[in-house]
Amino acid sequence: MRLADQILTGVHKAHVRLAERQWRSGRGDARTWTWPQAALDSKLTGTKQCNICGWRGTAFVEVHGMTEHSEGALCPVCGSISRDRFLYWCWVRRTGYDRGARVLETSPRLNEVYRDRMGQRVDYVSSDYDESAHRGAIRLDLQNMDLPDNSVDVVLTPHVLEHVPDTHKALSELYRVLKPGGHVFLQIPLPQAKTAPPTEPEYHGDMTLVYFRFGWDLADTIRDHGFACDVLVTSELRDAAAAGRSFSYGGADCDVADLMAGADAGSMTVVADEKQAARHSFRPAFQFVTFDCHKPR
Ligand SMILES: [Zn+2]
Repeated sequence: MRLADQILTGVHKAHVRLAERQWRSGRGDARTWTWPQAALDSKLTGTKQCNICGWRGTAFVEVHGMTEHSEGALCPVCGSISRDRFLYWCWVRRTGYDRGARVLETSPRLNEVYRDRMGQRVDYVSSDYDESAHRGAIRLDLQNMDLPDNSVDVVLTPHVLEHVPDTHKALSELYRVLKPGGHVFLQIPLPQAKTAPPTEPEYHGDMTLVYFRFGWDLADTIRDHGFACDVLVTSELRDAAAAGRSFSYGGADCDVADLMAGADAGSMTVVADEKQAARHSFRPAFQFVTFDCHKPR
């Protein structure tokens, strides 16, 4: 074996041991620890990285031929797609670590292994509305949440609100259950500049009906419910908005020209630079927007 290969093998073994030790007895922000399995499956010279499980490699797995899409770029270890990683990224970047934090995730895509790891990181509970597409630990209707007032520190809600008939009820309920100082990280598809119902019935992959196609004005709707709201994006999206640029995109699911024509760089908060976005595959940039809804203390 060549010396370079021997060194790489040694570094890889040390990486695996470190990951195992951290999960047993580590200190610091457990949200950033590498899963032992991810350490084992990593190619440390790769330029891609999953910020959920810590896997590193040369390329994410294509989904339906897509690498750069919010629903693409699958992590081979935890199964995250790009938007899962961006939501997680926003949570880690925007809140301090608290092992005892009550974290509710609505309809997570990821499996039992992920949920188990989340349970080791924070006081985690996942929910689902009807258990048709995902199996959540509790059933929950966002419009009528069976949770006490001021009981949750963080809500992670990926691509759920567009399937809820009454946006206002859902936002009121999220505000009610959140502790003062808590955050809701709200992710929805943003297919156009202004919110409107679909002009014809629209379903997503798991056959759930879409009630709203949201736009940038969702931030003001969120503020109307008492939250402070920051619109979290990558630097590439903010820069494009500032320059009045759009993106070329072949998909029919988003009117990019309309979305970018209504984009206001001044109202965006950058949470990932170009290098970070490339590493974790937060591209194309216009598909990576997360609303950080913060309940004042
Ligand atoms: Zn992963």
